[in-house]
Amino acid sequence: MSISTSVLSDLLNSLPHLRPQLYFKASLTALSHAMEDQVLAANLDRPLIIASFQKERFYRQEAHRYQRLADKSNQIYVLSAPETEFANSSEYYEKVSFDTDDALTQEWHLLVFAQNYTTCLICRESLGSLSKNKYIPDMIPSLDMDTARRFEGIWTSEKGACLKAAQLLLARIEVYRPDLADKIDEVKQRFRIEEAINKSKVNSSHEYVADIDTYPFVQRLVTYLQASQYKLHKAYSSIAAQARKERLVNSISTAIRRSLDPKEILQVAAQELGQHLEACRCLIYRAQATDTKATVEHEFLNSHVTSVLGQSWELEHNPLFQQVLRQLEGISVVDTVDDPKIKKSSALSSIVKKFGVRSWLIEPVLYQGQLLGIVELHYCYFPPHEWEQGELDLVKSIATQIGTALIQAESFANLEKLNQQLEALDRTRSNLIAITGHELRTPLSTIQVCLESLATEPDMPWELQQVMLSTALCDSERMRKLVQDFLTLSNLESGRVEWHPESLIIQECIDLSLSRLRTRSSQEKIPKIKTQIPQTLPLVRADGDWLVEVLAKLVDNACKFTPASGEITIQAISNAHQMLEVTVSDTGRGIEPNRLEIVFDRFYQEEGALRRTTGGTGLGLAICRQIVNGWDGKIWAESTGKDQGSHFHFTIPIVHGSQQDC
Ligand code: ADP
Repeated sequence: MSISTSVLSDLLNSLPHLRPQLYFKASLTALSHAMEDQVLAANLDRPLIIASFQKERFYRQEAHRYQRLADKSNQIYVLSAPETEFANSSEYYEKVSFDTDDALTQEWHLLVFAQNYTTCLICRESLGSLSKNKYIPDMIPSLDMDTARRFEGIWTSEKGACLKAAQLLLARIEVYRPDLADKIDEVKQRFRIEEAINKSKVNSSHEYVADIDTYPFVQRLVTYLQASQYKLHKAYSSIAAQARKERLVNSISTAIRRSLDPKEILQVAAQELGQHLEACRCLIYRAQATDTKATVEHEFLNSHVTSVLGQSWELEHNPLFQQVLRQLEGISVVDTVDDPKIKKSSALSSIVKKFGVRSWLIEPVLYQGQLLGIVELHYCYFPPHEWEQGELDLVKSIATQIGTALIQAESFANLEKLNQQLEALDRTRSNLIAITGHELRTPLSTIQVCLESLATEPDMPWELQQVMLSTALCDSERMRKLVQDFLTLSNLESGRVEWHPESLIIQECIDLSLSRLRTRSSQEKIPKIKTQIPQTLPLVRADGDWLVEVLAKLVDNACKFTPASGEITIQAISNAHQMLEVTVSDTGRGIEPNRLEIVFDRFYQEEGALRRTTGGTGLGLAICRQIVNGWDGKIWAESTGKDQGSHFHFTIPIVHGSQQDC
């Protein structure tokens, strides 16, 4: 059973002269409390009180008041839609539980009817009033949306309106509580409700009954208004403070974000923050969780205090820093003089004493939970600085901004570096294409000339034909080697080579490289090759194939640039850096000291490819450097100059605790 008609509509229909008004929920609460207080204060004779709450939760907030009102009358009716336990009952007063889809759920009524005092509040919630009100922003914490709900209706002391309201509400109560028919009848009789309604219809008189002292009502209303005003005032000051803070954070953030240079960002942040908070010092320095010390890099200084710029700050034995690190939250000390942590730490006590720090704030600069640095604020005078929540929040938001700005600046710098690398790589690639083109075209044109001559001149003498053929063959072999070396080098440079490190005996690798050399140059006369490898050398850790390749290339070069009468020596020692150093020396043509480094460049050949008699591609040493770098070794050349012989050294990591002869 539910009733869809509105009490307010029924009232307005019967009494068309009534003009409904708009009320915010806050005003209705104030009026209702004032009306209830008036009943508590005045000496009314068993008044009829009807209060209709939209929902049980609103009733529950007022239940204790109605228990007190119950002392004043036995004719109190409290209506509400049930949510948990509200049900029809007759304990202190009559509880009337109406259906959750009754029109009453949209209404708010309070009626006080006595012989010498009548007043009523009959209102209905305006549709859509629960939706967000755009004029009341969410950011105002103490202005909750509930108090801004809107109602329309009548608040009056006019007897005719109160009589009609009483009649309508009592009829509604009787529907839900037929068991109360006698009680309702009693009150109707006592106040001659029906009779009075009929009479007033005839007279249509607007009689007001307030034959009592209404001061409690007025007093209560004013108190409520004052409280609302105070709440409003607090809300607006909180908005103003918030707006001030936002403006500050914005201005500092803009200053920070104007730059992509980390140093500038930190300096600007220190300056702006220190100035805004009128601190004696504002310090910012980079620090990571594992750092034991940090150097104060940026400082804002109030002219009267000593600078700490460039000071080395203790972190490892600094209990405040360690606490910040553990909780990833800032710490503020109001008075360093009586702080137990500072008193206990000699490092902190000495800072406090030397630099006169009285109040201290340490805020971490974090990015995704990782420490990037620290912001410190110092106040150095008496009385100590009482840190306000607003200040702590401000420093925290600036530290967050610094963290983001630093990461952005760093990413930008990395991007720039990467860009430069890419540009360099692109330049190298273009050079490489040009050089390779040239290196390939040269033998190709020789081959072409030889083959064309052979094809077009059938009468060519047999000996010349043989020369042509062998030149073509020789140059095609040179091209093959060039292409092969070029591919090897690009694979090594682009990291496309898979390394298979193993423990190796250096003597065996040298033997392998020499046997490879001997098979290749069986017809040529090559210089004498000596090896001086101590038996007790430790094993080395490298990829065997590539190690043999390096040795073979170096020995091959030594043979190429040393007359057959000369001598080549291969030595190995274990050096002080846990590396084995292999040296290939020759007594050949030597290298000018200013060329010792560029011989490792691609295509470097002292005499130029065209004039070369020794063969080779100019890529051998570049390949050797890539291979040796691959196992974190070093390769370099030594020579005292022309005809003084050369020494090529390279290093290989040693296998710990190993010896070749074991
Ligand atoms: P290639 O030997 O194929 O020309 P490399 O890269 O192996 O290419 O060597 C580059 C250059 O370094 C050689 O052309 C030569 O001028 C110089 N060079 C290398 N090894 C020696 C050496 N043992 N003695 C003198 N010069 C050398």
